Amino acid sequence: MPDSTKTLPDTSSTTAKTSVYENVIRQFSRAADLIGLVDNVRKILATPVNEITVHFPARMDDGRVEMFTGYRVQHNNALGPFKGGLRFHPDTDIDEVKALATWMTWKSAIADIPFGGGKGGVCIDPFKYSKTELERITRRFTYALGQNIGPEYDIPAPDVNTNGQVMAWILDTYLTSVQPQERGRCLHVVTGKPVGLGGSVGREKATGQGVVYCIEEWAKGKSVDLAKTSYFVQGFGNVGSWAARLMDQHGARLVAVEDVTGAIANPDGLDAEDLARYAKQNGGVYGYQKASAIDHETFLATEADIFIPSALENQITGKTASALRCKLVAEGANGPTDPFGDILLRKAGIDVLPDILANSGGVIVSYFEWLQNKRSEYWDLEEVDAKLYKKITAAYRRVRSAAQELDVDWRTAAYVVALRRLERCYVERGIFP
Ligand code: NAD
Repeated sequence: MPDSTKTLPDTSSTTAKTSVYENVIRQFSRAADLIGLVDNVRKILATPVNEITVHFPARMDDGRVEMFTGYRVQHNNALGPFKGGLRFHPDTDIDEVKALATWMTWKSAIADIPFGGGKGGVCIDPFKYSKTELERITRRFTYALGQNIGPEYDIPAPDVNTNGQVMAWILDTYLTSVQPQERGRCLHVVTGKPVGLGGSVGREKATGQGVVYCIEEWAKGKSVDLAKTSYFVQGFGNVGSWAARLMDQHGARLVAVEDVTGAIANPDGLDAEDLARYAKQNGGVYGYQKASAIDHETFLATEADIFIPSALENQITGKTASALRCKLVAEGANGPTDPFGDILLRKAGIDVLPDILANSGGVIVSYFEWLQNKRSEYWDLEEVDAKLYKKITAAYRRVRSAAQELDVDWRTAAYVVALRRLERCYVERGIFP
């Protein structure tokens, strides 16, 4: 098979548009070239292990049956079971899920947790379905995946438009497929569960918390007082709203927010807690009384120190990156910056805390949940937060060292950390037969 990482198109034009998986391969190739990654390892990591597509029926409230398409991509499990979220979104396709699964492999390796990378999704607009329909869709998707997921094999978690409730339905459905004697030992088939069902305290806020721990480290390194900074956030769901609430606790000023309903701004500052309540009640931030509505272009050009993209992929691109006025992009979302956007951010001297480092708090606390379930013990919030802080700041230091050693941007440095970890594993274990 030809090595797909070595036949990439020219990246000199910053306005071309790429698929999300192509973005991953470009990022991967840049780092693999830089460190001269062993050729056989390069070939293995350039392709996911399994790409599962399922078509399945679900009954609607009016008795009709609709067909749905779902995906689970298992990119790599050299370091441990496949691990990664599950999203419900109308644009979800195999290309996107492959990219997200691959990022998970790098993320787990950088965080030094014993997981590989996986991701799943159902191509569906969840806002068009009732709760009972979503439950049946989730359960039929779980049934269709069958033994392709499992507590020691592949462990889903929440992502865009999924939450603890969806994880609870997956767990309950999965348990029907295992022997009664085993059921009590299978709680760790999903993470991000409600706390009453074996979830971990601190998991819901973990991704936003990890983003903020990384921003704190960046601020220390630059001698920036976070209490004097302003910031803006794209996406005000789990990751964005928690990151904002925790930035508020530092006294930083939230000046603009955008979500799927629109964008709003208030240069004097928005109360993140109050806005999160409003967004939950009203399905989004649009219409919030204590702010003015702005358009997308104005939102991107917000005058603020820190931008926290926490929505979807390909938001900072060759077309949009030059609008940014901030000093730091801290990526809460997966893949918000494409390789062309990266080039422009580098040219503009804007620092980037890359997704595979900055949003790894979610998978780190998922690992803690998985461990707690396996050991039948429960930790308090103080313990979870302290352990998350230790893990993510250690990852931060590893990435910073690689960036200094090789004099490269932080995304490439993060890839270097991940690839060296995986290379060591493959070189030591060899390739069967
Ligand atoms: P979520 O569903 O809770 O929130 C998504 C937010 O993005 C919503 O506010 C939505 O309105 C907004 N949004 C959707 N489309 C948009 C658009 N076109 N423009 C602007 N805003 C838009 O999802 P989440 O769990 O917060 O995930 C957000 C991002 O963070 C995703 O990239 C996800 O992969 C990543 N992530 C999530 C976790 C996690 O633990 N949930 C962990 C790591 C990374």
